[in-house]
Amino acid sequence: MTRPIVATINQKSLKHNLSIVRSLAPKSKIWSVIKANAYGHGINNIWCLSDTDGFALLSIEEAIMLREHGWQKPILLLEGFFCPEDLYLIDRYSLITTIHSQWQIQALENIVLLKPISVYLKINSGMNRLGFNYKCFQKLWNKLSSLNNIRDITLMMHFGNAENKTEIIKSYHHIQNLISGLNCNCCVSNSACVLWHPEVHYDWVRVGILLYGASPSGNYSDIININLKPVMTLSSKIIGIQKLKKGESIGYGYTYYAKQPQRIGVVACGYADGYPRHAPTGTPVIVDNKITQLLGSVSMDMITVDLTNCPQSNIGSHVELWGNKLKIDYVAKAASTISYELMCALTSRVPIKIIC
Ligand SMILES: *Cc1c(COP(=O)(O)O)cnc(C)c1O
Repeated sequence: MTRPIVATINQKSLKHNLSIVRSLAPKSKIWSVIKANAYGHGINNIWCLSDTDGFALLSIEEAIMLREHGWQKPILLLEGFFCPEDLYLIDRYSLITTIHSQWQIQALENIVLLKPISVYLKINSGMNRLGFNYKCFQKLWNKLSSLNNIRDITLMMHFGNAENKTEIIKSYHHIQNLISGLNCNCCVSNSACVLWHPEVHYDWVRVGILLYGASPSGNYSDIININLKPVMTLSSKIIGIQKLKKGESIGYGYTYYAKQPQRIGVVACGYADGYPRHAPTGTPVIVDNKITQLLGSVSMDMITVDLTNCPQSNIGSHVELWGNKLKIDYVAKAASTISYELMCALTSRVPIKIIC
């Protein structure tokens, strides 16, 4: 028998979540964000999102792959192009590129393309990663509008603290000022804005984490009422049982000692599968539909779990690390991280099973 760990990707849930996003932002078109190999779900496993208005990602190679698969609707490069020659591919494959730096504008000015392209002009909303100062917007707009290589310009922003109402209200006023009098589409909302700030939904929203069924805030309680479904379920089996005497310890570093005799299950899942190595004792795990906890440290290929409340469980028992029953937000919180990181960290040795 093969090692029992598997990541199940439920395409029905993915489609369902897209329909929820539509109902949350009914007036906007939707960029389904599939960067980082579709947040670890596998870019080849998300074709069922064909109802989306466009796909947004980082890598031009993946964008080309989508086109070669026959995807004809829009594709957005969230970080734009990395060298001027990329513009030939952007032109040839009809991709939309973000523009966040002056050198990119120069490149657009100097190059000869077959047809004008659409661009997203990125304004720095205060995060100070990519983007121009909003004070330059009008000047850049005029400049880009004058170039033959530009077909249309969309105002793009990305918020560093989209849960914060005050920040969004401030940005909203900035945006209204910037676009007043211009015939300009806007795209500024991520999942958090889709949930909590309808005033900034505008023409397009860019949604990642909601599609995959987790909370942008890291708190599952924040999405409990909107009926999203987890798309990825990571599961495995118990492959060993240990009976600890009082005072005996378990795993690398002996970080956990049994306070009384205790039955332990050894699960075929470790950090080389993408399970977070920093998950501490107490991180939730489900064994045979019962919630229990991780004990001791996470190894490369194994974790150890408490079977005190699972007397029926044994070798071969089903274990859910996160997913359908155990929401990934709870596991992420226990491991001091966010669902995004857990999803993306799934490694290539974990076999993927598709439910469609
Ligand atoms: C990743 C990303 C998103 C999606 O963020 P979620 O919180 O997953 O919705 C949106 N916009 C940009 C620019 C991104 O890089």
